[in-house]
Amino acid sequence: MDEKQKTPGDLRREALFCQPKNGWDRLSKTEEDELNAYCEDYKKYLDAGKTEREVVAETVRLAQAKGFRPFTRGMAVQPGDKLYRVNRGKAIMLAVVGAQPLSEGVNIGAAHIDSPRLDLKPNPVYEDAELAFLKTHYYGGIRKYQWVTIPLELHGIIALKDGSTLQVAIGSNPGDPVFTIDDLLPHLGGEQSKKPLGEAIPAETLNILIGSRPFQNDEGSDRVKLAVLDLLNQKYGIVEADFISAELEAVPSFRACDIGFDRSMIGSYGHDDRVCAYACLAALLDLDTPERTAVCMLADKEEIGSEGVSGMRSAAFDTFMSDLCDAQKAPLKACYEKSFCLSADVTAAFDPNFADVYEKRNSARINYGMGLCKYTGARGKSGASDASAELVAYARRVLDEAGVAWQMAELGKVDAGGGGTVACYMAERDIDTLDAGVPVLSMHAPFETVSKLDCYMTYRGMKAIYQAK
Ligand code: MN
Ligand code: MN
Repeated sequence: MDEKQKTPGDLRREALFCQPKNGWDRLSKTEEDELNAYCEDYKKYLDAGKTEREVVAETVRLAQAKGFRPFTRGMAVQPGDKLYRVNRGKAIMLAVVGAQPLSEGVNIGAAHIDSPRLDLKPNPVYEDAELAFLKTHYYGGIRKYQWVTIPLELHGIIALKDGSTLQVAIGSNPGDPVFTIDDLLPHLGGEQSKKPLGEAIPAETLNILIGSRPFQNDEGSDRVKLAVLDLLNQKYGIVEADFISAELEAVPSFRACDIGFDRSMIGSYGHDDRVCAYACLAALLDLDTPERTAVCMLADKEEIGSEGVSGMRSAAFDTFMSDLCDAQKAPLKACYEKSFCLSADVTAAFDPNFADVYEKRNSARINYGMGLCKYTGARGKSGASDASAELVAYARRVLDEAGVAWQMAELGKVDAGGGGTVACYMAERDIDTLDAGVPVLSMHAPFETVSKLDCYMTYRGMKAIYQAK
C-alpha cells in the first residue's frame, strides 16, 4: 500500500496492534535459499534417525564432522572446545564452550528425540490361523486407528547374553520388506464403525503381520511361526528367547517428503520432536566460540513422562554439566541459576478442519514462525513450567534483534486437553526455562506435517539464543 493512502487510523493500528505477519511475506531471497538448504538437510536427518538410538548415532556423526570430541571427566575445558557425551546410546548432550566462564551460566537448547511408536512386547511372536504376528505395546500418545493398514519398519537392537548386540533396521533400505497391521473391511465393519474412535482399535489388536509361508515338509504345530524364526535364525543367529532382551520399535515406513504444490511443508514420521532437536543441533554445529557456553540436550523418554535413566529427569544431564563446571572450578549451582534454557518442543498448529478445539487468537499458525509457549500443561496450567514475564521479554528481545519470525502459542482451547514438555524438569534444576517450538499439523500421527518456514525460523531462533550474551 502507498504510504500517502494510509489514514491516521491505519498508522495508529500499525503502531499499537499486535499483528503478526505470515513469515513468507518477510523472507529475503538469501533467507529463502538458506531455508531450502536447511530443510533438505533436515529431511536427511529424519530419514537417518527413526528411533532415538539412530538419532543419537546420526547426531554423533554430524558432530564429529564438525570437530566435536567425546567429553570425559577430568578433561580440560577451553573456550571454543566442542564436546559431546552420549547417555546409553539413547540421549546425547553437546556443548560449545564459551568465552565467559561456566559460572556465568550457559544457554541451553533442550529437545527430545523419542517419538510415538509401537514397541514389541518381550514375547512377541505368535501364529494364528496360519499367519505369523508380533505383539506390540504402544509407546507415547497414539491414536490407535491411525496405525493400521500403513507400511511399518522394524528398527532397534537385540542384546544377546554374550554381551554383543545386533542392530536391526528392516524396511528402510530399497528392496526391504515392510510390515503392516490389518484392519476390517468396510463390508464387515458395521459394528466397529459405531464405536468411538478411541475404542474401535483396541491396543491388543495392534498385531504386526510378519509372515504366512509354512515351514516346508513339516506336519507339526505353528509352521508359519517356525518358518519365520528359522529365517531370523539364519539372518541374525537369534532364537525366540532373544526377543526378551531386545528393543524393537515398529515405526512408519515413510520417507520425509515435501507437501503441497508449492513444496512449502514437510511430511514425515517423527517431527515431534526431531524438528526441534535438529534445530537445536544444527544451530549448535554452526557456532564458533559463543559468549556464553552453548549446550544442546537431546533427551529420550519425553513421550512417556521423561522418566528413566535416559530421560530429562535423569541425573545424566547434571553429571555432564557438573563435569564441565568442575573443569573450570565453577559450582554447578552457580552455573544453573544464571543459565537460560529453551525447551524446544513442537506445539499444535491451528487446523481449520478442526477449528473448534483451538482458540484462534492464541493458537500457533503454520508459517508464522517459531511458537513461544509461556506455559503448557492442562486444565488450570497443571504440569506447566510457566515462564516468567521477564523471561518472555528476554526471548522477545533476542529473537527480534536476530530477525526471527516467531509467534505466541497455546496448545488449544482451555480445558480441551493439554500436554507437557521437558521444561518443568529444567526449571526444577533452578534453570530459567521457556517453551518454544515448531507448530505441527497431525501431531503424533504416523505422518506429521510442518512448515519449512517454521523449521527454518526455529533453527534461526535457536542460534540467536545460543549467541545471546
Ligand atoms: Mn514433543
Ligand atoms: Mn509428543
